[in-house]
Amino acid sequence: MRCKFCNTEITDATFDLGSTAISNALIKEANLNSVEETFPLILYTCSKCFLVQIEEQVASNRIFTEEYVYFSSLSKFWLEHAKKFCEDIKNYLSLDSKSFVIEIASNDGYLLRNFVEVGINCLGIEPTKSTADTALSNGVPTLIEFFNLDLAKQLKQKNISADLIILNNVLAHVPEINDFVGALKVVLKKEGTITVEFPHLLELIKNNQFDTIYHEHFFYFSLKTLQKIFISHRLSIYNVEQLDTHGGSLRIYATHEGNSLDISSHKKSVEKIIKVEINHGINKINFYSQLGNNAYRLKLNALKYLVDKKILNKSIVAFGAAAKGNTFLNYCGIKKDIIDFVVDETPYKIGKYLPQSKIPILPFEMLKKVKPDVIVILPWNHKEEILAKLEFTKSWNAEIVTFIPELKCY
Ligand SMILES: [Zn+2]
Repeated sequence: MRCKFCNTEITDATFDLGSTAISNALIKEANLNSVEETFPLILYTCSKCFLVQIEEQVASNRIFTEEYVYFSSLSKFWLEHAKKFCEDIKNYLSLDSKSFVIEIASNDGYLLRNFVEVGINCLGIEPTKSTADTALSNGVPTLIEFFNLDLAKQLKQKNISADLIILNNVLAHVPEINDFVGALKVVLKKEGTITVEFPHLLELIKNNQFDTIYHEHFFYFSLKTLQKIFISHRLSIYNVEQLDTHGGSLRIYATHEGNSLDISSHKKSVEKIIKVEINHGINKINFYSQLGNNAYRLKLNALKYLVDKKILNKSIVAFGAAAKGNTFLNYCGIKKDIIDFVVDETPYKIGKYLPQSKIPILPFEMLKKVKPDVIVILPWNHKEEILAKLEFTKSWNAEIVTFIPELKCY
């Protein structure tokens, strides 16, 4: 395959996770016995620009369908994270009623509603109808479209451009990265800022977070490689912050090359993180191969733990029908003969089945009823919140376990 950014031919795979179903494609009861489509999930690293990527196997319009099940507003955590960001960025960029904010992949408007509330004009761009309709009914202006260069030009023609463009956990989902970043430049005002939040590749590799690799995530970014991409579109990253979200994320601030924001910034924060990345070896291709080796060790440990419990006739269930859980379960080959069911609090998901493993998704209350011996937390990035929620299971001495970055019991 060719690198999606610099077009260099990539021959060797970094990590082959096998052929898996789309992580967010939960199965309805009626389709349980139908043939399920799977697609190769193989990670590649470009030896020239070190962009880590998967070959596009599944078209975006098949992933982000009308039935897309992820509603950001259902997560209290993301609501608070968004609210805090909006307050901070409003002060940082001195946004007021004359400002205009665009969010790409604005989901159900969970973030932009904070701007609507304080009278700052905004526009959400969101391809999935189910979430966009919710945003519209809550008074958040939203276009139901994929964001790309064509759309950016159309907006520009209508004199729509932004003081702030927000991209939270969306850049990985964009198949045509050059078209997309070029489009950002078109709708960014002269002194405008683009903020991008994304899981940091360095954390993924250091902490064995291989379960964040799935078909919906085409790219995995280091700051150094993202900087190369932005520079090629004459955009400059002038600030960066480290966040705890998704097991360690970065939030970058970018603007047009050479404007007053760019010139006045010191960029020390950017240089500092790039230096850490280079010290870890992100500029060497063999740095990336540890990912597959570490994931394989983790798989063996996880399987040994679960099989030992099953031999002792212990019942095992899981918490959280999240996408990353599916990568983990399917890479390890864990099915419903090991994990009886997974509980989730999203009404939308209850009664459906996880793709490929076909583990049923049941309501949270089932834990009290069944009193399982072992509970596996799949969304380990929300571990603290979930452990607090599962405190009551200690009344029957349930063992709670997470597998990433390594096996740990609570
Ligand atoms: Zn490349």
